[in-house]
Amino acid sequence: MATTKKVTRVSGGENTPKKETFVPTAEAKAQAGKFRMYGILLWVLAIVAEIGAMAILFKKDPEIDLATGSRIMLIVILLVDLVLLIAGSSFWKKANRFDPASKQNALKFFFQNQLGVVAAVIAFLPVVILAIIKKEYLVAAIAALFMVGGGAASADYNPPSKEAYAEQSTYVQELMGVDHVYWTKSGTKYHLYNDCQYLKSDRTTEIFEGGSVADAYANNRKIKPEMSSLCSACEKRAAKEKGWTDEQLQQAKDNALSSVQNAVQSQGDTNKK
Ligand SMILES: [Zn+2]
Repeated sequence: MATTKKVTRVSGGENTPKKETFVPTAEAKAQAGKFRMYGILLWVLAIVAEIGAMAILFKKDPEIDLATGSRIMLIVILLVDLVLLIAGSSFWKKANRFDPASKQNALKFFFQNQLGVVAAVIAFLPVVILAIIKKEYLVAAIAALFMVGGGAASADYNPPSKEAYAEQSTYVQELMGVDHVYWTKSGTKYHLYNDCQYLKSDRTTEIFEGGSVADAYANNRKIKPEMSSLCSACEKRAAKEKGWTDEQLQQAKDNALSSVQNAVQSQGDTNKK
């Protein structure tokens, strides 16, 4: 039951933080859906290329060497396979930036973010095996190299999560009242003020503004989805404007983190019931 008494909310000292979860906007969901479709389509085309390469290998007699022309053809097809795979993975990772997975389900979180690695194995392992069976070792070695390289390029080393998005958004709201940030095309940080010293350099020709932290992550993949991606100069300035001490700033950060944890726990409880 909500109290009828007047409640004075004192920022930085709450014992019962708000429960925060990240929900993508309808627009972000639609963008993610579009990019996922492109990603899957390109992966399917990569597998079509792989099947083409396998068709050539199938017809080969293991005891007779392939003609140089056929061998070059095979390698070119594998190169097309590789390019399609990496392009597909790039769209897939972009989609996850718009609509990240939740860390609550560790298995789903892993597969959603690293599906490109699975695609790399599917797009190359069968051709590696067939090439070995057919004693076409150069082609097998090249396909294996492409599988490893393509897998490494398809992995997401900074996988976004709903929890990280919610933490950051909550923290920015604690500092500024609203989730409204600025970023540049290739910068690795997001900013709270558009006149931040780091946005004043000549290299910065365009500042993206008016989006949320989630928008910054969706539109600039160089910004890692983690707390340290908030510009420290902007963070200090916001704390100064609020008159916060370092401890109060840390408290606000802890609150943002625990409010998301609370939401995760309460969701987990609801799921159990
Ligand atoms: Zn800044």
